[in-house]
Amino acid sequence: MVDSRRVPAEDGLADLATMAASLDTRAKVRLLTGATAFTLAPEPSIGLGELRMSDGPTGVRGLKVSGGRVVSLFPNATLLASSWDVDGAYEIGRLLAEEALIQQIHVVLGPTINLHRSLLGGRLFEAYSEDPLLSGALAASYVRGMQDAGVAACLKHLVGNESETDRSLVNSVMDESTLRELYLLPFEIAVRDAHPWTIMAGYNDLNGTPCTEQHHVNTEILKGEWSWDGLLMSDWSATKSATSSANGGLDLVMPGPVGPWGDALVEAVTSGEVAMTTLDDHVVRLLRLAHRVGALGDQPGTTVDVPEPDSPRRQKQLRELAAAGMTLLTNQGVLPLSGLPTVAVIGRHAIETVGMGGGSAQVNAPYQISVADGLRNRLGDRVNVVDGVEVRNKAVAASPAMVIDPSTELPGVEFTLFDAEGVAIEHRHSATATTVVGFDDDFEGTVASIRIRARLTVEGPINIGTIGVGTWQLTVDGHDFAWQSTIVNPGPGAELLDPPSRSVETHVGRDAVIVSVVELGELAPGMPVQIGLIARRAARDADTVIEEAAAAAAAAEVAIVVVGLTAEQETEAVDKTTLALPGRQDDLVRAVSAAAAKTIVVVNAATPILMPWIGAVDAVLVAGLPGQEGGHAVAAVLTGAAEPTGRLVTTWPADDSATPAWNVTPVDGSIVYEEGSFIGYRGHFAGRAPAPAFWFGHGLGYTTWAYGEVEARGSDAISVKVTNTGERSGREIVQLYFAPADPAHPVRLVGWTPVTVAPGATATVTVHGDRRLWRYWDGGVDGSWADLPDEGVLIVARGLGDIRGRLPV
Ligand code: BGC
Repeated sequence: MVDSRRVPAEDGLADLATMAASLDTRAKVRLLTGATAFTLAPEPSIGLGELRMSDGPTGVRGLKVSGGRVVSLFPNATLLASSWDVDGAYEIGRLLAEEALIQQIHVVLGPTINLHRSLLGGRLFEAYSEDPLLSGALAASYVRGMQDAGVAACLKHLVGNESETDRSLVNSVMDESTLRELYLLPFEIAVRDAHPWTIMAGYNDLNGTPCTEQHHVNTEILKGEWSWDGLLMSDWSATKSATSSANGGLDLVMPGPVGPWGDALVEAVTSGEVAMTTLDDHVVRLLRLAHRVGALGDQPGTTVDVPEPDSPRRQKQLRELAAAGMTLLTNQGVLPLSGLPTVAVIGRHAIETVGMGGGSAQVNAPYQISVADGLRNRLGDRVNVVDGVEVRNKAVAASPAMVIDPSTELPGVEFTLFDAEGVAIEHRHSATATTVVGFDDDFEGTVASIRIRARLTVEGPINIGTIGVGTWQLTVDGHDFAWQSTIVNPGPGAELLDPPSRSVETHVGRDAVIVSVVELGELAPGMPVQIGLIARRAARDADTVIEEAAAAAAAAEVAIVVVGLTAEQETEAVDKTTLALPGRQDDLVRAVSAAAAKTIVVVNAATPILMPWIGAVDAVLVAGLPGQEGGHAVAAVLTGAAEPTGRLVTTWPADDSATPAWNVTPVDGSIVYEEGSFIGYRGHFAGRAPAPAFWFGHGLGYTTWAYGEVEARGSDAISVKVTNTGERSGREIVQLYFAPADPAHPVRLVGWTPVTVAPGATATVTVHGDRRLWRYWDGGVDGSWADLPDEGVLIVARGLGDIRGRLPV
């Protein structure tokens, strides 16, 4: 039980301007840069308490980047979005608010509502969709769910932050129509419909100006046209100036305590370059946020009951959320599994199912159920689990099962942190094999070197190595190794988010002890570094692995191959170079499908992959990055205990670059959004890219649907009778698109209505279009909204590859 914050009524607001005015310039400026990585300074003289923030979209990690509190790991954002469930998004916001309240967190840094422009974007797993309406509607509902519980949400990253390459330098170039009609639209919908209390400005530049200095977006549009009264913070270390950002509308620099405002902003205010009224506005917005989340003055709370991350209640919630978003792409009658077949469950992703993406969205989960464990728990000894081919290029950190902390004799490793004089300043015992130093609330900034000690529980050919920058020395079973590791892809936080790794294969005996020491060298104060120990069994010959998998597949009634991506592809700070599955996973699927009576492929990835074997398998289920209960959710769906009710939130192309927007490598520092608002299905439908493999909106579920005649309800709504023609109850999502007659304007999703119908029954479903999709931006920066002519076609579809009705208007 924790104290939840009572949300104060707006009319109960204290006189924030008077409070701000009571502080001198330096005291005001002090509030406008983080006090630490994730906290803001208190100001007792006005009753302002410490404000505490945490990432993020798949769980509330807390103030520590690693090694912090154990918290619930939710399914990733695309999986949650795939249920197209606005009410569900409210519930997710509410659940995340609970996770925040128990940790005294006031602001949760999400949702991410950048769009899926190029499918190479490494961070798409954190963002909902390629569609602005779906993204905006889900975000609005999530924000309401969270803020109704008194916790602030934070829309991010404003705006044009669709890929990661050179993310702090890249200039996203787009015309005003594209900006307004597409990339700002989810922000506009969420701001107007849900009034988020905070927003985060992105790392990138937009049309030549850093997002943190974007007067046009931040002041004219967001705070002006949309009358938004919240707090605009920078992304972490994104702020490049004092005067231009403060005058451009940025309210808060994160993280702290060091940053570009401080003395420079005090001087700018003193010299008049930044007006005192501007400074006061930033402070008032900060105080308003504090008031809203209960950190200003004496605000009473009420008590709420928050389930533990591993409690049965949380498990059920997380399992149901994951299953609801899973999307059935194809099914030749093999799913749901009937009877109790013998099953070969094959693949590295079956054994090490990836529950979350990489980067700041990661949390310290209590456990992660693999698909293999999920199926074993449901089907018992009818399941034969077989490892698959290697799926990673980099060696990964030691699993707790492979290492023991020699000081505690418990699973894990021992980290010892030393200062520049070689004095041990901290021991971290029985820790997971990677840790982060230098980005926590308690970081002192004095760590000069780190020692990792562990005893191996396995013997034989092992890959031993290191993760992180610095000068390394490694001793394993009497063998010495040494190397220098430096950053490969420079960028903000690269030492944390994309650390270099290096490993060697060596033969070790049982109980071998590993000692590795890294000299960190010259790191900026507070610079976060990720440091870790690699220890993995050496990779086996891929041909042998594939042969064994095919043999196991032939011996079972059904083969389930789990393939996917890892945090090497789906991560912050790095983009992909291809949609092809890493390693020899395609060969594995081909061999299994050739040998097996029935083959089901489960895709453990958030974003589209290429499936050259699609014609040879009996079913494909997209399971996303399903969070801690992932394996149980997959098992529930495969066995029919739950329906995979997901519909794609992104179009799956037939090949690399067979999409309307592809390149994510800046040319002369810029990425030009030259496809305008024709991304994803909008571009495919206009013939700007070849027909995709699967359209946005596609998803089969476990029943079949017949649509009656579509009837107009005015010019922007329809109703239609849908009949469940299958044998089990199902959930259909009736999707309404508008294709304007003028081809200069792309087809667009304008509304959808989910409906659950019993077998044989018929429901009349009405879908209202959102009028905001009938606007276009007329002109450049000084232009204005104009109404699209109503002429065009209303389309009712299960994704635009399966159109069920057209209504010319
Ligand atoms: C990310 C943000 C995140 C922040 C704090 C940045 O690297 O871009 O989305 O909220 O770090 O962890």
